[in-house]
Amino acid sequence: MTNETNDLSHLTVLISGASVAGPALALNLARYGARVTVVEKAPALRGGGFAVDFRGHVHRGVLTDMGIWDEIHARQTHMGRQTVVGADGSPRVDLPAEMMSGDVELFRGELARIMYERTRDRVEYVFGDSVASLTEDADGVDVTFDKGAPRRFGLVVGADGLHSLTRRLVFGDESRYLRFFDHYVAGFAVPNHLGLDRTGRIYSEPGRAVAVGNYDGDPDRAGAMLVFRSERLSYDRHDIAAQKRILRERFAGMGWETPHVLEALEETDDLYFDAIAQIHVDRLTKGRVALLGDAGYGATMGGMGTGVAVVGAYVLAGELALAGGDHRTAFAEYETRIRSFAKGCQKISGNAGPFFAPATERRIRSRDRMYRLLGSRLLAGFFRKLTEKAATDIRLRAYPPARG
Ligand SMILES: Cc1cc2nc3c(=O)[nH]c(=O)nc-3n(C[C@H](O)[C@H](O)[C@H](O)COP(=O)(O)OP(=O)(O)OC[C@H]3O[C@@H](n4cnc5c(N)ncnc54)[C@H](O)[C@@H]3O)c2cc1C
Repeated sequence: MTNETNDLSHLTVLISGASVAGPALALNLARYGARVTVVEKAPALRGGGFAVDFRGHVHRGVLTDMGIWDEIHARQTHMGRQTVVGADGSPRVDLPAEMMSGDVELFRGELARIMYERTRDRVEYVFGDSVASLTEDADGVDVTFDKGAPRRFGLVVGADGLHSLTRRLVFGDESRYLRFFDHYVAGFAVPNHLGLDRTGRIYSEPGRAVAVGNYDGDPDRAGAMLVFRSERLSYDRHDIAAQKRILRERFAGMGWETPHVLEALEETDDLYFDAIAQIHVDRLTKGRVALLGDAGYGATMGGMGTGVAVVGAYVLAGELALAGGDHRTAFAEYETRIRSFAKGCQKISGNAGPFFAPATERRIRSRDRMYRLLGSRLLAGFFRKLTEKAATDIRLRAYPPARG
C-alpha cells in the first residue's frame, strides 16, 4: 500500500534561510500544497555572490520539473576563458571555461530571486528574524523567534548555510561538523576597469590570490574573488567592517590590480566572506528537523553546493509526497539518497584554496606549468567529465506530479 499523494496541505513546514536551499525547498513543497514559512535573518532577500552553475542531466531535470529551467536559461551568464596572469598582467596560462562554469550559470542572487518570486504568493517569508529555540514533541515543533511570536510547525528544515543555527540547536556545535581547508574566500562586485568581456584574470602570490571576472558582458561591472591561506581566524561573521579589515591586511602590498580591488572593497555592501570549508554531519535529520544545502553538506568552492542544494530540496519534498507527509519514512529516504551524492560532490572540491593561492612561488610556477602542459582542450574534457560524473551520480525516483 502506498500513501503517495500530491496534496501535502496538512503539512506545516518552517524553513530557516532564504538563499538557495530554502527557496528551492519552499518551491518544491508549495507545488504539493504544503503550508510553508521561510524565516531569513537578513532584512531582505540577499543579492550578491558569484555566478553559480548547473551541469548534467540531473540538475536540468530537477530544474525543469521545478518549472524554472527556462527562466534560468534566459538569465544565464556566459563566463568564458580565465587567464592566469603575472604581476604585469601578461598571460601565463589559459584555463578553459569548463573548469569554472557548468552547462548554465547565473548569479546566485538571481537564482534566489527567481525562486522567491515564484513562491512569494504561496509561501510566507519572514525577513529580519531568526529561530531562537526549537522544542520538539510527538506531534510537532514549538519554535520561538528572536522577534516574532512563538509558533508551532510540523517540520523544521535548516537551510541556513555553512554556519547553520538550526544545526547547532539540534545537532550540536559547529566545531563537530565543519572541516576547515586552510583558506578563506571573499567575493564582491568591482568596477570593470580591466574592460573584461566575459573573461577572467587570476593573479597569485604565495598564499594569496586575486581573481577578477566579468560574467555577463556588463561593460561596467565585474566580480572580484580573493582567496588567502590562513590559520583559522576568529572574527564576528556579522561584522562586515572587521572582515574588510582582515582582507585589507592580508592583501596589503600585493601586486597586479590588487590596489584597485581593495579600493572597491571599501565601497561594497554585498561582501561574501567565509572559510573554505566543508560540512560533514553523521545524520541529516533528527526527529522532525532536517538539514538541507550547505547546513548539511556544504562544500564552499567547487563542490557544486548550489546544485546539490537544489537537488536536495527536490528529493526532500518528493520523498515527503511519496510518503504522504510521513516525515519518518521521507527523512530516512532523503538521508540515503542525498548523502552519497553530496559526498561525491564534496570530494572534488577540496583543492580550490591551493589551486588559487599555492603556498610558495615554486608551487605557483608548477601549477602554471602543469596547466600549460595539459593544454586548454585536454583540461576542458577532464573537468567536464569529473564534475559531470559527480553532478549526475544520483538516481532520482519518480515523485508525484505537482498540483501547481
Ligand atoms: C549573500 C551570499 C553570497 C554568497 N556568495 C557565494 C560565493 O560568492 N561563492 C560561493 O562559493 N558561495 C557563495 N555563497 C554560498 C552559496 O550560496 C551556497 O554555497 C550554496 O548556494 C548553497 O546555498 P544554501 O542556501 O544552502 O546556503 P547559503 O547560500 O549560505 O544561505 C544560507 C541563508 O541562511 C540565512 N541564515 C543564516 N543564519 C540564519 C538564521 N539564524 N536564521 C535565518 N536565516 C539565516 C543566510 O542569511 C542565508 O540567506 C553565498 C551565500 C550568500 C547568502
